[in-house]
Amino acid sequence: MLDVLIVGGGPAGSVAGTILARAGARVRIVDRATFPRDKLCGDTINPGTLARLRALDLAAGIDQRSLRVEGMQVTGGDGRMIQGRYPRGLAGRALTRRELDWLLLQQATNAGCQFEPGVAVRRALVTERLGATRRSRSVSVSRSIRRVPGDGPSAPTSRTSCRAVSVS
Ligand SMILES: Cc1cc2nc3c(=O)[nH]c(=O)nc-3n(C[C@H](O)[C@H](O)[C@H](O)COP(=O)(O)OP(=O)(O)OC[C@H]3O[C@@H](n4cnc5c(N)ncnc54)[C@H](O)[C@@H]3O)c2cc1C
Repeated sequence: MLDVLIVGGGPAGSVAGTILARAGARVRIVDRATFPRDKLCGDTINPGTLARLRALDLAAGIDQRSLRVEGMQVTGGDGRMIQGRYPRGLAGRALTRRELDWLLLQQATNAGCQFEPGVAVRRALVTERLGATRRSRSVSVSRSIRRVPGDGPSAPTSRTSCRAVSVS
């Protein structure tokens, strides 16, 4: 049984999964990719994000693997350049997304989330049940398991269900 199914093991999915698992929810994260995976990005963590990750106790490993960044320099094709420094001496960090996302996903699984790589979600089927005291919504996710190198041929399409929302 699952309480929450999260599609996508990027920073949003991993951090949400960690918070939910710490609160006692049974969480599964699925991603069409296998991890660690590369992702197009400027590879910088701004001071606000860094502060949020620290507050959530999720910054472990980032400081050791990253470089200090005091601002940004943005350049255009016509040679124009804009520089900006973070205010009040604040600093961010530079770290490849391959490493950052992998660190965050590992912390999610350490917190108790299950992780299934190589699962591409096609669509969500939403059904609602009305009860006397509460309304609940179940989400059934159609998925097809992609071929993962070394994992044999693709499995047929299957479904995973979980209760996603419960409101009174
Ligand atoms: C060129 C570029 C540069 C950037 N530079 C920076 C930067 O320097 N600093 C910064 O803070 N932000 C930067 N960003 C923004 C940053 O990349 C996003 O804000 C961030 O990735 C959002 O995280 P996320 O977890 O929501 O999504 P993602 O990191 O995109 O993760 C989504 C995950 O979901 C999976 N997925 C998607 N669809 C499905 C599906 N149907 N089934 C299964 N899995 C699925 C994907 O495989 C992926 O792993 C940049 C973005 C771009 C495009």
